[in-house]
Order: sequence, then C-alpha cells, then structure tokens
Amino acid sequence: MGQHATVKTYRSLQGELANAATRGELFLQYQPIVDMSEKIIGMEALMRWDSAEYGQIPPAQFIPLAEQSGAILYMGDWALDEGCQQLQQWSRIPMAAEWTLSVNVSAHQFNTAHFVDYVVHAVQRYGIAPGRLILEVTENVFLNSTSSRQQDGFRRIREAGVGIAIDDFGTGFSSMCYLRDLSVSRIKIDRTFIENVTENKKDQGIVVAIVMLAHALGLDVVAEGVETAEQLKFLKTVGCSAFQGFLFGRPSDVSEFLCSEFL
Ligand code: C2E
Ligand code: MG
Ligand code: MG
Ligand code: MG
Repeated sequence: MGQHATVKTYRSLQGELANAATRGELFLQYQPIVDMSEKIIGMEALMRWDSAEYGQIPPAQFIPLAEQSGAILYMGDWALDEGCQQLQQWSRIPMAAEWTLSVNVSAHQFNTAHFVDYVVHAVQRYGIAPGRLILEVTENVFLNSTSSRQQDGFRRIREAGVGIAIDDFGTGFSSMCYLRDLSVSRIKIDRTFIENVTENKKDQGIVVAIVMLAHALGLDVVAEGVETAEQLKFLKTVGCSAFQGFLFGRPSDVSEFLCSEFL
C-alpha cells in the first residue's frame, strides 16, 4: 500500500484482514534466540500475512490495522494456537525439544477478559511444558487498564508456568512500578539501543543499566537486533547472556533451522 494508500484501500485491507486466518493467508516465521555460546535456546514467532489481494504486507503495517479493527484478537488467538502446535512438534525433535517459543501478544488481546484462560487452555490442549511458552508484550499493555486486574492476569499466567517478556524494553512507558508489582520473567532490550551500541556512549550506558536492572530483579535479558560481531562482543562484556538478531538468523520457516537434523 505505501504512501499511495487511500481510505478505500485502507478499509479494503481491513476487510481482507478479517478473513486472513480462515483463508490460510497468515503464517508464522521463526527467528532464533541464542545463548553465550550462540546455541539456539528458543525462537520468536513473527506473524506474516500473504494477502491474495495485496501480496505480502509487513507486520508494521498490518498489525496496527488489525489492532484498530479488532481483528488482532482472533489473529492473536490463531498465532497462539499455531505456536503451541509448533512447540508440540518440537518436543519430538531432539535438537528442538528444549527450545522456548515466544509469541507476541498485543495489548488489546492481553487485556481481554478471556485471555489468561485461553493461554492456560492452549498449553493444556497441546500438552506442552508451560515453561517453554513465553508471551511477549510491549509496555503499551500498561495503558488504559486497571492495575489490579492486570496484576491478576500476570500472576495467573506466571503461576501457570508461562513466561512473560517485556518486548522493546525502554521505548515505551518504562515505569519501574510494573517491574516491581507484576511478575515478569524477561526483558528484551529494544534494538534501537543496540544499533549504535559500539560507538554511542549513551546507548552503552542504557544497555549496561538495563542488564544490571534485569540481573538485580532476577530476570532474563535478551538483546534484540544484534547484527554485528562487535555488538555481540560488547553485549557479552557487559553481562548480557541471550541474543536475537540477523547475526544469528533472520525470521524464516522453521525448517531452515531444523533441516540439518533431519537429513
Ligand atoms: P518485535 O516483536 O519486536 O519483533 C522483532 C522485529 O525485529 C521483527 O520484525 C524482526 O524481523 C526484526 N528483527 C529481528 N532481528 C533484527 C535485526 O538484527 N535487525 C533488524 N533491523 N530487525 C530485526 P517484524 O517481523 O517485521 O515484526 C515487527 C513487529 O510486529 C514485532 O516486533 C511485533 O511487535 C509485531 N508482531 C509480529 N508478529 C506479531 C504477532 O503475532 N502478534 C502481534 N501482536 N504482534 C506481532
Ligand atoms: Mg517480539
Ligand atoms: Mg521487540
Ligand atoms: Mg518491536
């Protein structure tokens, strides 16, 4: 669509999106998350939309549209199901049996009343170890919502054994209160802090502080958007121990990461 988008195409896109999952136009790609020795410890599921009408549209365009129309709710349920199914399959593959899977959850979806039950039910239905599922939410989730209800949602998810990561950490409403009051398990350092981390002293300071904060609170910390060996070296030096980015693999079909095992 790009800059030539009209109100008409916008509406039409939203209409297409409403049926995308039932038409089989949505799929997930997977991007590895690695440890200090660059061994894969998990994957992040990233949604893709291959529209019959418009071709491939990037998430930066269709996710906001889906949030406005409400389609994100059923799309999010679809992604969670699909992700849990993938986890179930991985549990039978030796190299993948321990991998975690991170699924992105929009604020709107997270804050619906049925969300926690849906997650718990999905974990049971697919018979997966709950600790292998991680929900990624951005700090947007803390807007427009009462803290007690949310606190309860976070608590129930964590009690079920499912992980919660704060995605794009540092770019939203980085209130220390939610880190204190809610049971989060992981922080993902936004890639805008990683991009220039080898040269920019401010980025270095922020990254060091986030890593220390995570350690002090007993949280996992993952650096997003790691593209160069120099960035990786810096991140290791300051105590970051999990990484994601093009340096280790682009989002791809899962077979990309598994095929060598099967052959
Ligand atoms: P995110 O969850 O922060 O995902 C990471 C994004 O960074 C992905 O973009 C990924 O392709 C990109 N990325 C990973 N490594 C690198 C790198 O080294 N360099 C650069 N430049 N980029 C890198 P993608 O796939 O376009 O997704 C964009 C956003 O769309 C995601 O950001 C997430 O917020 C949202 N999204 C994707 N799938 C879903 C979903 O199933 N549900 C919801 N609610 N949102 C989703
Ligand atoms: Mg994410
Ligand atoms: Mg992110
Ligand atoms: Mg992001």
